[in-house]
Amino acid sequence: MLLELDHVSKIYGDLHAVDDLSLSVAQGEWLAIVGSSGSGKTTLMNIIGCLDTPSSGSVTLEDRALNDLNAGQLADVRKNVIGLVFQKFYLVPHLTAVENVMVAQYYHSVVDEGQAMEALRKVGLEERAHHLPGQLSGGEQQRVCIARALINCPKLILADEPTGNLDGANEKIVLDLFRQLHEQGTTIIVVTHDALVASCAQREIMLNHGVLVAERWNDEEARKASEARGGTTAVVRPEGASDDAAADQGNEGGGVFVDPTKAAKTGGTTR
Ligand code: ADP
Ligand code: MG
Repeated sequence: MLLELDHVSKIYGDLHAVDDLSLSVAQGEWLAIVGSSGSGKTTLMNIIGCLDTPSSGSVTLEDRALNDLNAGQLADVRKNVIGLVFQKFYLVPHLTAVENVMVAQYYHSVVDEGQAMEALRKVGLEERAHHLPGQLSGGEQQRVCIARALINCPKLILADEPTGNLDGANEKIVLDLFRQLHEQGTTIIVVTHDALVASCAQREIMLNHGVLVAERWNDEEARKASEARGGTTAVVRPEGASDDAAADQGNEGGGVFVDPTKAAKTGGTTR
């Protein structure tokens, strides 16, 4: 397992933003996290991404308990293991595309424009390398962000609503990039509102008021492999789901998940 969450909660006052959540994610898996606004998706991603700490419970990444790491070690994990992609692009407006990618290297104190250009090439943006963010479309800006996330060759890509600001064509480009990364063995966890984006993942989990209320596999082979590794991959607590439809559907059949025709946007193959 690359990532294991064991009874993780994040509590603000009486609000359980993440509520007793247990989950394992295998190396190379592509997981989608869905759920309505305020259901705790970003909080969970921030905890996984070492940007936040749980109120209780433990997170283990590459067999290291994050609770036991000091600030410097956590920074190393963020730099070396994780690539972050956000809905908001967080590009520095007065730096060019290639310079924005190099910002990620800067934290490694090794800046290599050749590598940054290579990352831009991977996302198909070589020819835009010297443009400022303001001169790029939303889709191009998101691809710069993905290049920035890829620069340190992370094992784990965490993407929070990566296509939230994109039109259909750019969404497809981003999904194709994720598909390529997945094929190369990168583990991907993507938070999304978009049922189509979620359906591209091997597995979907749904949060409701911080509780993991449903799980569905889209990839039968991956499900079998997960079962062979030892069964339960997520601990689903449908009874915690209050009046939401998820409470009735629980873990069976994935009825709470909308099942769109993914062919429309993804075509099922890489370009
Ligand atoms: P999502 O990403 O699914 O929309 P979030 O993880 O952003 O949900 O938020 C989950 C819940 O936690 C929300 O009710 C939100 O208002 C609350 N929350 C998030 N961050 C904080 C914070 N720093 N302080 C207090 N409440 C927070
Ligand atoms: Mg969010």
